[in-house]
Amino acid sequence: MPAIVPIPAFSDNYIWMLHNRQYAAVVDPGDAGQVLASLQKHQLELAAILCTHHHGDHVAGICKLAQVYNVPVYGPQHEDIPCVSRAVGEGDTVEIPEIGIELGVLDIPGHTIGHVAYLGDGNLFCGDTLFGCGCGRLFEGTAEQLFRSLQRLAGLPGETKVYCAHEYTEANIRFALACEPRNAQLERRRADSRALRAAGLPTLPSTIALEKATNPFLRCSMPEILHNVEQQLAIKLPAGSELAVFAALREWRNNFS
Ligand SMILES: [Zn+2]
Repeated sequence: MPAIVPIPAFSDNYIWMLHNRQYAAVVDPGDAGQVLASLQKHQLELAAILCTHHHGDHVAGICKLAQVYNVPVYGPQHEDIPCVSRAVGEGDTVEIPEIGIELGVLDIPGHTIGHVAYLGDGNLFCGDTLFGCGCGRLFEGTAEQLFRSLQRLAGLPGETKVYCAHEYTEANIRFALACEPRNAQLERRRADSRALRAAGLPTLPSTIALEKATNPFLRCSMPEILHNVEQQLAIKLPAGSELAVFAALREWRNNFS
């Protein structure tokens, strides 16, 4: 099992680096300089580059890294990303023999149309689709696509570790508490996240079980969430439609501060 460490980039991105003390792979290298510095510091050689979707803060460092290291670059087949050499999609496997890991590819559209996730050894790299206590914005896909993608991730084993690409957890917890003020696990998560951030540590990875217990976007069947989103947006949602709750929550979140 490789170690998995975050390389912080920009204001709140994490470039996840998998390594075995000799070789490394990085996911969503938006900033080549940060990756090169980290490789040098830990005396690692890059073996592979992976990306989840085409946004600049996830891919802007790829070509520079690929110039320095002649390694395979994996990226979503339905998106046009410079310097990707191996286009992947649902059902494909990414093998990185240098660090002894195989990652399966999942298509999880919504945030962008071609967004993929990588899953292996109980670790999920989900880019901007699932966040700590939240989810990505709808930039290209429909609410239904993002809802189904998140439902799919929620169906993974509870102990699956969730490596998101941004440190958004604390802001997301504020929103989650507005949706579900009586969720005791959410209160605990707020305290835990505060303590981690105060110590300068990431709140990630989380787990699928923790997300299912606290993330409102995975809890659209909860009556309290339905009630609060209806109140907040002054709307009446169709009975029994988790998708309608999800779409309304996403809209509320866009305007929540
Ligand atoms: Zn994005």
